[in-house]
Amino acid sequence: MQTLITGGSGFIGSHLATLLFEETDDDIILFDDFSTGRSSNVSHLTDHNRVELIEGDVIDKETITPLVQQSDRVFHLAAAVGVQRIVDKPLRSMRTNLIGTENVLDAAVDDQTPVFIASSSELYGKAEAVPFAESDDRVLGPTSSLRWSYASAKAVDESLALAYYRDHDLPVAVGRYFNIVGPRQTGQYGMVIPRFVEQALENKPLTVYGDGTQTRSFTHVTEAVKATYELLTTPEAHGEVINVGAPEATSIKELAERIINLTESNSEITYIPYEEVYSEDFEDPQQREPDVSKLESVLGWHPTTDLDRILNDIIEEQTTVTAST
Ligand code: UDP
Repeated sequence: MQTLITGGSGFIGSHLATLLFEETDDDIILFDDFSTGRSSNVSHLTDHNRVELIEGDVIDKETITPLVQQSDRVFHLAAAVGVQRIVDKPLRSMRTNLIGTENVLDAAVDDQTPVFIASSSELYGKAEAVPFAESDDRVLGPTSSLRWSYASAKAVDESLALAYYRDHDLPVAVGRYFNIVGPRQTGQYGMVIPRFVEQALENKPLTVYGDGTQTRSFTHVTEAVKATYELLTTPEAHGEVINVGAPEATSIKELAERIINLTESNSEITYIPYEEVYSEDFEDPQQREPDVSKLESVLGWHPTTDLDRILNDIIEEQTTVTAST
């Protein structure tokens, strides 16, 4: 069996590759444009002849099509990550989502190759009635706030996936990821936890945007990739959009305080008004929390947050990286 992971040397992709390497006999192709992916994320795997890392762009149909066609299943994770990167490069980010996803789905049709499509809780936008269920309406902000370009493109990806399922019987499962976190995530383009951990370890102020009352539900990447793998291999998930996350929500202020405590840091918290965050029309969802009943009914389990475990894993990684540089 050959498995293709687009975005395979990225944060989530590298953890999924590790799971596949350890739990299956698959030959694994990791496809990545290295925009945020790093070969070092998968260097523990690429020494083995079962794993091949290929540089390329999902927008390039001639490159991605044969790779999909020679694979028996595809996890399509390639996407721009981080609100800051999306705001900086909206066109690039949208083209990856729109053209890349269409290329992957189109190439999968002839052999009915199962495809997992990574979507995002960003699609719930500014909805307020938590927890968010898949059947809920989506509430995106104005087009002028380019943050929402990502959610708009991912919304098209979801509709495309369901259209391929309907029109071509393509076995496709869509997972809406809720703030997946863990080792190897870069804080370069937003991503609150790696940023706060780095700030705390350097005894610098933790930069809380707004008043810190906004909430997120953080999910350990190891649980997210387990759910990802199971969704693609569970026929009841095909043709479905399913939340992938842990139901417990934490405010960003509480998150900052926990990180300061766990790292025994001298850092203070500094509150940055939204107008002064990197984009003048920055908008921030106030609440985000998944309804996991659909995931539970399909897989028989759902991720559970142990925030201290997540934070300790990231602190340990960053301490090791700092110590070795
Ligand atoms: N955030 C923050 N300080 C930072 C980075 C992020 O307070 O340095 C906040 C951000 O405003 C949001 C939350 O942390 O409310 C999660 O941000 P992230 O970019 O990690 O993910 P999002 O859920 O917004 O996509």
